[in-house]
Amino acid sequence: MKIIRKHLKDYKKALEIIKKYDTIVVFRHELPDFDASGTQIGLATWLKETFPNKRILRLGEDFIEFTPKLFSSNDKLDNEELNDFLAIIVDTSTSARIDNKIYQNAKEIIKFDHHPGNDNYGKINIVDTSLSSCSELVLNFILSTKYPVSKEACKYFYMGIVGDSQRFLISSTSSSTLDAASFCIKQGIDISKEIYQPMYEKTLEELNTQKYILDIYKVTPKGVAYYILKNDELEKLNIRPEQTKKYLSTFANIKEVEIWCAISEDPLTHEYWVSIRSKNIPISEVAKKYRGGGHLLASGANLKTSEEINDLLNDLDNLI
Ligand code: AMP
Repeated sequence: MKIIRKHLKDYKKALEIIKKYDTIVVFRHELPDFDASGTQIGLATWLKETFPNKRILRLGEDFIEFTPKLFSSNDKLDNEELNDFLAIIVDTSTSARIDNKIYQNAKEIIKFDHHPGNDNYGKINIVDTSLSSCSELVLNFILSTKYPVSKEACKYFYMGIVGDSQRFLISSTSSSTLDAASFCIKQGIDISKEIYQPMYEKTLEELNTQKYILDIYKVTPKGVAYYILKNDELEKLNIRPEQTKKYLSTFANIKEVEIWCAISEDPLTHEYWVSIRSKNIPISEVAKKYRGGGHLLASGANLKTSEEINDLLNDLDNLI
């Protein structure tokens, strides 16, 4: 795997800072996806193995889809006041989305990310929007340090790479993505047993939810497919709002569909969480208009009222 030359200076600085601290906390964005959690746990694993005398923590609320099935629980602070630590924040474009606000007590912050945006909340901000995953970036950093990286850490990075490149399907998948994946596999991962089965296995209950969504989805005149799950439906289906987006890929390869969205009601606030995906048309600016953001072709948003659902769908329809 080739080290990305333009980041070399920052990689060096980041390693120097890492060496200075006895306590290092790795953070990621709220409601993590495979890349956020995979990068966080992969990096924490490498830090523990490389610097056994340091205290390495990872913070952020566990995500029901991932823990305990795929990842062990994150650390809990139990009222401990954490000071004098380094925060490394991965896969999080804006400080508002950093899970666990204790990062604000950090002496220094290093940001690793691959999202567009200019919230440079770190002392060092290593951001590369050309990469399909943050795992690829952090693995690249680790390889630049010349310290070894274990199969265990690579397993998590591989999950991040596969997750955010959507199994190497989306256009940001490059030869360097495949190089990073190849490096991980070379460490001895069994990709079927250790990666794909735990990541993509579904239960019959989930299959039934998919069936329900296939019954209720709608498509706007120009080709925005969407499904809305309200509180009573979420209860009936026994899922939480953050699990709604899991079914989005159902609409990924449909000829007539350009953009597709999962919309779910938050049972506490009665606002709506939206996940938006697009074949080719950039959607992140529309997402920003509705208190969200993300990648050009994969974004999230937040809607205050059911009227805003129509506004968002109209805006997306107009994009097409
Ligand atoms: P999701 O639909 O939650 O999987 O999010 C898709 C992408 O958009 C991910 O890269 C998220 O980090 C990003 N994203 C989701 N919600 C927001 C938000 N409210 N603000 C900024 N970025 C977001």
